[in-house]
Amino acid sequence: MQMRITKYGEPVLKQKAEKVEVFDSGLEKLANDMFESMCEANGIGLAAPQVGVSKRMFVIDMRRRYDADTPCNFTLDGKSIPLELAMPLVAVNPEVENAGEYVETAEEGCLSFPAIYGEVERFYKVRLVYSDLKGARHEIVCDGLFARCIQHENDHLDGITFVDRLQTKELLKISAKLKKLKRASRDFLKGKNK
Ligand SMILES: [Zn+2]
Repeated sequence: MQMRITKYGEPVLKQKAEKVEVFDSGLEKLANDMFESMCEANGIGLAAPQVGVSKRMFVIDMRRRYDADTPCNFTLDGKSIPLELAMPLVAVNPEVENAGEYVETAEEGCLSFPAIYGEVERFYKVRLVYSDLKGARHEIVCDGLFARCIQHENDHLDGITFVDRLQTKELLKISAKLKKLKRASRDFLKGKNK
């Protein structure tokens, strides 16, 4: 089932999401619904608060962004495996830490901020430890766009969006668009509460 994607200005995007305690068919359904919603919106990552669910969980599918010419460098539980075997990725109760020596600045967007982009600094390489849908813990070490996507989605679980990480100069460039989006969200919420 496709879910509506929440937009900037909606309170759920500002909340710290809650740890997942129960690994059941309901969680599996949520993951499937999040995937469907993400694919429909042409995204590569989506966090639960972006479908209005304040739980510590995100989904990622990097298959469309990597190919033979731009291979994805990563290990899953210490092993190098084909990307297709690791995707789609469902990460529950994730923990992310820097695993490299560099930061990298690149343009980011977000399904909760349609047509808004900005340059964000991120760790180039990260270690992600997470539970799968059965509750088993795994570890992914990766770099580049995959690492950037993990950091972006993980931020959502702490109520942080990419615009919170923009430098003032970058933020000024999109401030008019942000104001407009916030007004639209306010009007949407008003309509919903009637
Ligand atoms: Zn996002």
